[in-house]
Amino acid sequence: MSDPIKTTDSEQTSDPDIVQTEGESVDQSPINPKKRIIRSWLLFGLLALLVILLVVRDDVRQNAAESSENALHYIAFDVLGWSPRDLFIWRLRMAGLLDSPLGQRWIEAVNRAGEQPVQAGGQFRTTESFTSDEVEAHVYQVSLERGEKLIWQFSRLDNAESRLYASLERREKNDQQWSTITELDADDTTNSQVVSKAGAYRIVLQPELFANAEYSLAMANGGSLPFPVEGAGQRDIGSAFGVERDGGARKHHGVDIFAERGTPVTAVIDGYVRTGTGARGGEHVWLSGSMIGFGSARYYYAHLDSFAVESGDRVKRGDILGYVGNTGNAITTPPHLHFGIYSGGPVDPAPFLKPEPELPAL
Ligand SMILES: [Zn+2]
Repeated sequence: MSDPIKTTDSEQTSDPDIVQTEGESVDQSPINPKKRIIRSWLLFGLLALLVILLVVRDDVRQNAAESSENALHYIAFDVLGWSPRDLFIWRLRMAGLLDSPLGQRWIEAVNRAGEQPVQAGGQFRTTESFTSDEVEAHVYQVSLERGEKLIWQFSRLDNAESRLYASLERREKNDQQWSTITELDADDTTNSQVVSKAGAYRIVLQPELFANAEYSLAMANGGSLPFPVEGAGQRDIGSAFGVERDGGARKHHGVDIFAERGTPVTAVIDGYVRTGTGARGGEHVWLSGSMIGFGSARYYYAHLDSFAVESGDRVKRGDILGYVGNTGNAITTPPHLHFGIYSGGPVDPAPFLKPEPELPAL
């Protein structure tokens, strides 16, 4: 039903700039005046450079201004890629506590909690606390498909200075290991993560040793794209992704969304469109986040009755691209939009099209 044009995923990784400042030591040994003048100018130049750096680079200024404690964090997180929890573990090791029963119990706490995680799918909200006389971790887990969006809100309710480590982790299907996606800030804002790899996701919370902490956590998961047919919803999806077509010769590389002829179909992202006409897809539109279509998923709208855009048009999310019909090989079926997503091959659009997540009300 669709022309399976493959696109390649280009994962962009941007390395944070690593700024290294070296301490200069001023030599006090007696030297001749000419050399001293040259040295003074060199020193002046270096100072001027430092001042410029401090003015221009926020991160350098902050790291220079703050205590050595923060400098250590800076080296650990930005240079070595350690998490705050990794740094705490390193400190336990330095203090000789890591091999103690207490240190071991702290390290193992996440595994213990992870064996029976709190199921936090759909909408979830909780208020919990840790007390200084226990060695525990809390784990909130949810299973997510590619294209779903997880949102969360995390805040500290106590005023203690103690650290409460919080991270979002993922374990892909057929994988044993959890990997950290991001650290959570207890900043009371709503954060989100669109799922690029299906699997189990969990939020792990653990305070440092001997710490009291009270927190609230809200989570919700749902779709990451707006529904592409005006006035339609999940209930109007009539034919799922992956079902066999032409007696098993090929598979359905999208979902069919049934609606009355002439119902507007809308852009799911900001991007560029290309229109076309084919034997299978009939009047169809390709929508892509970038002009040439690489490095971005492509969205396929087929069997349109007519177009509302022309090739090369730039559209905004929600703009009308065309109208539901049954052109192409859908000529004998009721009008519907065949909607496909291609990103390194065809992807099931259904998880993308779930209702967008909303945190449960307090
Ligand atoms: Zn279809």
